[in-house]
Amino acid sequence: MSLVIGVLALQGDVREHVAAVEAVGGEALPVRRIGELASVDALIIPGGESTAMWKLMRAFDLLQPLRERVQEGMPTYGSCAGMILLADRVLDAVSGQETIGGLDVTVRRNAFGRQVNSFESEISIVVLGADPIHAVFIRAPWVEEVGDSVEVLGSVRVESISHPVAIRQGHLLATSFHPELTGDLRIHKYFIEQIARQHG
Ligand code: GLN
Repeated sequence: MSLVIGVLALQGDVREHVAAVEAVGGEALPVRRIGELASVDALIIPGGESTAMWKLMRAFDLLQPLRERVQEGMPTYGSCAGMILLADRVLDAVSGQETIGGLDVTVRRNAFGRQVNSFESEISIVVLGADPIHAVFIRAPWVEEVGDSVEVLGSVRVESISHPVAIRQGHLLATSFHPELTGDLRIHKYFIEQIARQHG
């Protein structure tokens, strides 16, 4: 049976994630309302701006339903702003900024510094195979602390400190970078085949 993969469609690069899901043979549904959330088996939270998405989730009464689905085990993948929204703790958040949570991590918003708003790098992610992934970072967060149940899948070294940029905790996956922008579909394939199918 084919799974319906929702893409949270409040703000950000929704179209690119819908296209990536469809390119790997999945069925994608943009999610703006509670009824749409109820009809998906798994969810992708796109990159964009976590503060704007947080305000829109509140305005659309989606924050609490999203928290409940994630706590109940809905497979969820967050890229960039989506990683921030899945984190239990956020550094450099705006005043009052809330998250959906679920990932036992502390992330830092805009962590790579204001001079380097964007950069690209080759990252080794063993679960995706031997070829490194070409990662695009745009005002990206990194992970500063991880809880015991979090698996680090990939990291970037900055000034000799290694910062996780791809993590998994059971049914939850997050990357600081945007695989939906590069045409490398391995993260979406991994999410659908190794996480959504196992936990959905
Ligand atoms: N800096 C953004 C935020 O705080 C994330 C950037 C992105 O998703 N490309 O939400």
